[in-house]
Amino acid sequence: MVVVRSSNFQIDIQCPQCGAPVVLEETENIIECPFCRVRSILSTQPYPCYYFEPRQEQLSDLSVVYIPYWRFKGLEFALNSTQVSYRVIDSSWLAIDREDKHDIPSSLGLRSQTQKLKFIQPDTKGLFCPPLINKKQILRRINKKYSKTPGVNKLKNKSGNQAYIHVGEIISLIYLPFYKAKHELFDGLTGKKVDALPKQLEQFSDQGKPPEYNFSFMPGLCPNCGWELSGETDSLVLICKGCFRAFLIRNKKLNQIEVQFASLQPDTDLFIPFWKLSINFSKIFCSKYSDIMRLANLPKAILEEHKIKDFHFFIPAFKVNPKLFLRLGKQVSLLQPDSTVLDKLPKGKIYPANLPLQEGLEAVPPVLMDLCKRKKELWDMLILEKIKLGKYSLVYLSFKKVGLEYVQSEFRFSLPKNSLKFGRKL
Ligand SMILES: [Zn+2]
Ligand SMILES: [Zn+2]
Repeated sequence: MVVVRSSNFQIDIQCPQCGAPVVLEETENIIECPFCRVRSILSTQPYPCYYFEPRQEQLSDLSVVYIPYWRFKGLEFALNSTQVSYRVIDSSWLAIDREDKHDIPSSLGLRSQTQKLKFIQPDTKGLFCPPLINKKQILRRINKKYSKTPGVNKLKNKSGNQAYIHVGEIISLIYLPFYKAKHELFDGLTGKKVDALPKQLEQFSDQGKPPEYNFSFMPGLCPNCGWELSGETDSLVLICKGCFRAFLIRNKKLNQIEVQFASLQPDTDLFIPFWKLSINFSKIFCSKYSDIMRLANLPKAILEEHKIKDFHFFIPAFKVNPKLFLRLGKQVSLLQPDSTVLDKLPKGKIYPANLPLQEGLEAVPPVLMDLCKRKKELWDMLILEKIKLGKYSLVYLSFKKVGLEYVQSEFRFSLPKNSLKFGRKL
C-alpha cells in the first residue's frame, strides 16, 4: 500500500462575513471562520484562478508580470482494447508557448508550495499574461509526455487506439510573478534573473487584465429551513439536520439530492459515499443486472429476476488512489447493494463526498472496462458510445473499524484505513 503524501497548495483568504484571515486548502470549498464561526461556501467557475504575491521588495519599482500555469491533480485512466491502466497526476504546466526557447520554469515546482496562494480579484494589480495553451491542450500534452501510444483525450475522439480519462479533482490556473525591466526579467519569488525571455512577453502590451472567472460565496445554511448545513469543509454534499435534506454544491448553487443508506449495521463506524448512477448507453447493453452478469462473465445462472433488475454504477464519491478507486467501483457495482432513504441520520461518522458528480460520471468507462471480461468487444462499442447520465443519488455504505481497516461486514470486503487520507489534509 503506497501512502501518497498530501501535496496541496494553501490559499490565504478572508472570511466573507467578518474579514478575518483564513487559510484554505485547495481541496476545500467551505470556509469555516475561526473568529465569527460562520461557514461560507466558496464557488469558483469554471476553475479557480490564483496568484503568488511577489517577494522581492527591493525590485518593487519594476512592473510585475504574471505568467500562467495549469495545475492538475487527479487520476488518469488509460483504456485500450485489452486493459485499463492508471496513474496519479499531481503537477503543473506552463501555459504559455514553449516552442520559442526561454528560461521560464516549465512547472511551478515544489518551491512555490512553501508560499500561500491568493485568489485573483478584478482589482489585483499587475500584468497578467493570458494562457496561450488551453485546458484541453494541456491535458493532451500530459498524455503525450507519458505515453508512447498516439492517444486521444476522450473516448469520443475515436482516432487513437488508446483513450485517456481524467478523473480530475483539481484543475486551476496559477500565476507566478516576475519583475520586468525594459528587456530584463526577474523571478518574483527568488529574485533570480531570467536569461532568455519568451517572445510572447516581448509583444505583451499593457492590457494584461486579470483572468475573468466567477468567484462568489453562499451562506452555509439550508435553503429549505435555514438550519446550518453539516459536512466537512471539503465535502460537496452537505446535510441539514433540521429538515434532513441533502444538498450538492454544484454550479454556484445548493442542489437538493437524494441520499440513501446501504447495508445498515447497528455498529457502523463510518459511512462511505458512492455515486449511484443510472447510465443511458446508446450502443452497449448494460441497463439490467443480467447484462452486467454477461459482460463480467459472473459464475451465476441468469434468472428472470436479473433480467428485470435495473443496473446502477456505484462509483466512489471520494478521493482514493486509482487502484482502489477502480477496485471499489467494480466491486460495489457488481454487488448492487440495496439502499434506502432514511428520515434521520443513522449513528456513525460520515466520510465527505469530495469527488464531484461529473467526475463520477467520467469514471464510468474505466470501471465498466475493468469489470468486463471480453474487453476487445466492449472496447469496439465503447469508442462509438455516447454516455448520458440518467437518475443519480448518493449512497452511503456502512463500514466498521477493525484494526487498520474499514470492513464492510455484509459484503465481506475492506479498505485500508490510511487509503482514506488520499488527497485530504492530514
Ligand atoms: Zn468570520
Ligand atoms: Zn433544512
